[in-house]
Amino acid sequence: MPVKKLPEGLHRDTLAVRAGLPPSQYGENSEALFLTSGFVQTDAETAARRFAGTEDGYTYGRTSNPTVTSFEQRLAAMEGTEAAIGASTGMGAILMLCMGLLKAGDHVVCSRSVFGSTMNLFGREFAKFGVETTFVSQTDLSQWRAAMRPTTKLLFAETPTNPLTEVCDVRALADLAHAAGALLAVDNCFCTPALQRPTELGADLVIHSGTKYLDGQGRVMAGAICGPSRLIVDVFGPIVRTAGMTLSPFSAWVVLKGLETLGIRMQAQCANALAFARWLETQPAVARVYFPGLASHPQHELAMRQQSGQGGAVVSFDVRGSDPRSARAHAFHVIDSTQMVSIATNLGDTKTIITHPATTSHGRLTEEQRQAAGIGQGLIRVAVGLEHIEDIKADLLRGLDTLT
Ligand SMILES: *Cc1c(COP(=O)(O)O)cnc(C)c1O
Repeated sequence: MPVKKLPEGLHRDTLAVRAGLPPSQYGENSEALFLTSGFVQTDAETAARRFAGTEDGYTYGRTSNPTVTSFEQRLAAMEGTEAAIGASTGMGAILMLCMGLLKAGDHVVCSRSVFGSTMNLFGREFAKFGVETTFVSQTDLSQWRAAMRPTTKLLFAETPTNPLTEVCDVRALADLAHAAGALLAVDNCFCTPALQRPTELGADLVIHSGTKYLDGQGRVMAGAICGPSRLIVDVFGPIVRTAGMTLSPFSAWVVLKGLETLGIRMQAQCANALAFARWLETQPAVARVYFPGLASHPQHELAMRQQSGQGGAVVSFDVRGSDPRSARAHAFHVIDSTQMVSIATNLGDTKTIITHPATTSHGRLTEEQRQAAGIGQGLIRVAVGLEHIEDIKADLLRGLDTLT
């Protein structure tokens, strides 16, 4: 069946819907789901060439699959990178990054506000293999500079961070990394390519948890790394084949279809989040709101420059309390008074999700570590979804209005 070749120079919104492998001989309009672990070879010679890597073609599901390829091509087109590679989860992608770039004796500089499991992977698991990581302030560039060593191979950041939405300057970190011959990887989970494209700001590699906004509807686990072919194809490809943090074709298909609506979902969720954050600032029971879209945010201007003028869709706030115990009681009261939003530890869903970071995602830290990280007992994180904004406000007002 003749296939139309996509014209050059399509816009990102178009690529989000159109990029990927061409349809099969049946001409399906919605991308096919190739739910197969193996691929039949026409003859032994072909099989030999494909396994030797001298001929393109699918062989075995741990190495690659056409549905996964379509997801990778579409995500790369949206991030503006040469290539992308799928992983079973976001953490699987970061594990692949570490295995591909680091060896014993190497040094990493990492923001101390990154995702908890990322901190553990660098600080605990890879420390066992002789890779040392220095954790520095998300926003203080002088700490990043001071932490650099001759053995520094990788700088790792996430922006904005969870749950306090601190924003780092990607361009400045890229310059610092490159001056030292190191690479910068940015976890773009909170903004997605719809808002922020770190490689346009100089980052070398972009990490995704597809579990969050890329799927966007809370259905599957997925991850990916985007970057130049010399790293994606030559370095990370062999690691997936050997270590097996492979993205399943079913999950790839779900996220592939999720990418088609990513742009409009992000716009709508960002608009909801901004309205919600502004409203929270007017609530007497709220002490402080953390949201990059607010003029009161310490890195507001940088965020607007880096994030296509959008604050994202995660809003955190402190409820008032005279001491940690009363602050926690007040936060629990607000959370437990909701009747609609979900109490869950995910984010990036169409459903609004509410959490208490101090007793969930950051529950294993000591109170001192939490204080240092700025995560108080009165802190609540809301990942704003697609419900009507008035319903979201009304649900939060139940508890905010009845605090004594
Ligand atoms: C959730 C998350 C991850 C990990 O992704 P999983 O798909 O859960 O493994 C990594 N980074 C950030 C910023 C996240 O929010």
